[in-house]
Amino acid sequence: MKNLLFIFLVVIFLSACNEEKPEVVKELAKISKPIDLYEFGFKLNNYKVINDTIQKGESFGVIMDRHHVDYPLINKIASKIKDTFDVRRVRAGKPYTILASKDSLEKAQVFIYKHNKSTATIVEFNDSIVHGYNFRKKIKTVEKEIAGKIYSSFSVTMDSLHLNPNLTNAIADIYAWTLDFYKLQKGDHFKLIYEEQFIDDSTFVRYGKVKAAVFNHKGKDLYAYRFIPDPNKGIVEYFDEDGDMLRSQFLKSPIKFQYRISSRYNLKRKIKHYGYKVKPHRGTDFAANEGTPIMATASGTVSESAYRKRGNGHYVKIKHNNTYSTQYLHMRRRKVKRGQYVKQGDIIGWVGHTGSTEGRHVCYRFWKHGRQVDPFKQKLPAAEPLKKSLKPKFLAHINPFKKQLDNIKEAGYQELIIPSSTTTDTFKN
Ligand SMILES: [Zn+2]
Repeated sequence: MKNLLFIFLVVIFLSACNEEKPEVVKELAKISKPIDLYEFGFKLNNYKVINDTIQKGESFGVIMDRHHVDYPLINKIASKIKDTFDVRRVRAGKPYTILASKDSLEKAQVFIYKHNKSTATIVEFNDSIVHGYNFRKKIKTVEKEIAGKIYSSFSVTMDSLHLNPNLTNAIADIYAWTLDFYKLQKGDHFKLIYEEQFIDDSTFVRYGKVKAAVFNHKGKDLYAYRFIPDPNKGIVEYFDEDGDMLRSQFLKSPIKFQYRISSRYNLKRKIKHYGYKVKPHRGTDFAANEGTPIMATASGTVSESAYRKRGNGHYVKIKHNNTYSTQYLHMRRRKVKRGQYVKQGDIIGWVGHTGSTEGRHVCYRFWKHGRQVDPFKQKLPAAEPLKKSLKPKFLAHINPFKKQLDNIKEAGYQELIIPSSTTTDTFKN
């Protein structure tokens, strides 16, 4: 009977910390004799294990009292460990584990306050010793590879592969300068080599490095290899197979997520509103929801930030260098002032429909030598080319990854039937 109860507790405990793998739990339930289980360095078999969460208004003292620790000892604990952990700081919503004696008293002996999945403060106490310390679980890094195919959007495919949005966003950032994610086509496919980090062998904590990737778009392979050109600076960059940096001076779009190009640069545009006369459109319109953040597509200094009732509405213009400027029109609100320096990706305002416009969009204008051009027709400069002297080292570094990518089996594709979507969004934020 006692054995059964123990197995029951083990199952509860495992379900609490490993929700994603119920099959493991089922297997354990079949085992008739207890197996040794450890967490935070304790052999759990020796204790009654209580997993709970700090409730609103609950203090360390109240919790200890409930688990049969008397107040003189609670006070002793609080003062003894104050340099490691201030017990007044327990926060509602944080999980904790109490290891209590297995006898009928069920008196708490260990309090484990979990800061996150991998770190905790541990307080051990009995009548004679009180000891508090921080514990960090060992993190296991596992290299993974995966192949996926686009049916409606990149994020839908990533979801179907059970990869979380953090990885989706990381890949989107790597390719932000190279790939128009909104233009991905059904049948485009990709392969990734990346890391996952675990604690307790199987509990996922986070993603590690994205080491290499290839995106096949319209039949063309776009490789991305992680490489640190200058070990002293330690800045991670992604390069293609020729050593050209993927990051370029300009982002493909001033909107990161959920946009649709509603009108392109077109010098021969005719609109009904103007009686079908030729009315050139020198911008690219990115339609997005009202209030969507607008990013600077490259670093530079704000040369104009103003409001025009007719025409531009609230708009911002940024001078990037002597050759290029960019301009963003019809904002609901501006976030930057004239003369301010902005970095690539900084939010400079929000999508609206101020000035002469109807739909919610940002009209993005790209200036080269003082003339408006189509940014999508420009061969834009890479951020910084790889030094020639580094090329041999780089090629030696990427060679095994290229082989590995090419060997990832296409059988890994998740052939999912997804109703073709009319939305053109690429990601969920
Ligand atoms: Zn426009």
